[in-house]
Amino acid sequence: MAAYIGRFAPSPTGALHLGSLYAALASYLDARANNGQWLVRMEDIDPPREVPGAADTILKQLDNHGLHWHGSVLYQSQRLTAYRDAIDALENLELVYSCQCTRSRLRSLNGVYDGHCRSQQNLSAAPGTESLASIRIKISSAKISWQDLIHGRCTDELALTCGDFILVRRDGLFAYQLAVSIDDAYQSINHVIRGDDLLDSTARQIYLHEQLGFEAPRYGHIPVLKDAQGDKLSKQRFASSIEASNPGGNIEHCLTLLGLSVPAELSNAPVAQLLDWATQQWSRSTIPNGTLAER
Ligand code: GLU
Ligand code: ZN
Repeated sequence: MAAYIGRFAPSPTGALHLGSLYAALASYLDARANNGQWLVRMEDIDPPREVPGAADTILKQLDNHGLHWHGSVLYQSQRLTAYRDAIDALENLELVYSCQCTRSRLRSLNGVYDGHCRSQQNLSAAPGTESLASIRIKISSAKISWQDLIHGRCTDELALTCGDFILVRRDGLFAYQLAVSIDDAYQSINHVIRGDDLLDSTARQIYLHEQLGFEAPRYGHIPVLKDAQGDKLSKQRFASSIEASNPGGNIEHCLTLLGLSVPAELSNAPVAQLLDWATQQWSRSTIPNGTLAER
């Protein structure tokens, strides 16, 4: 078996908050507990959503919390040629087409594309440039199944959940599903531990790995942190921003949320020591359901 390679892949849409630090920590501990490497990839392919300086802030926050990554950070903004090449390869396989459906038509489909533009064989513009068309991949009716490292057996039938999905947006930007799959393969990532808000993306990513001739990684989806109302913690809602001056306290808090209660003698210990202890204790099977208690 190939040695474990995991990753944390934030989008630089803002600083890390408690929920994203918790996800980073889970992927870090899972990698370390399996004698793996832990990489960091900056998913900066959506400039309209990005906040200037956020990428550097995130890297400083990870470093400050003792979450040191292996090698250098891969920036997706440097990978556009690879994404374009993948579209070319899929075009040669006659798997992609351009879609010019109007927004109102798409809205009426409720998220499951009906293949309306499938007969449009030629891509109307070079992928990665602005045009009025998006690029979609044809999906077959096959069911996608995987053994999730945390959720167990999962199955998704793409024809029913999303239909032919977008690889290049009509604004010319490459879609997350494409970039994430290509780069997980490029970096030889074989274990992806991330929040279960991405559970419904996984089948699309496995499908892309298959079509591009890659071996898909194993996936494990941890419960995303929710507030007491059951809403996901998000940057938009300014949820629990983390205090730079107290990295140990933040790590301790996240460890508790991951089901590891730090013994009193380690409370206030340096982060490196907390992380060593947590690596020894780490277990995927005891992660709680993610709901934060009222504070
Ligand atoms: N960049 C994505 C996000 O921050 C996560 C990608 C992934 O872990 O697959 O939501
Ligand atoms: Zn269309």
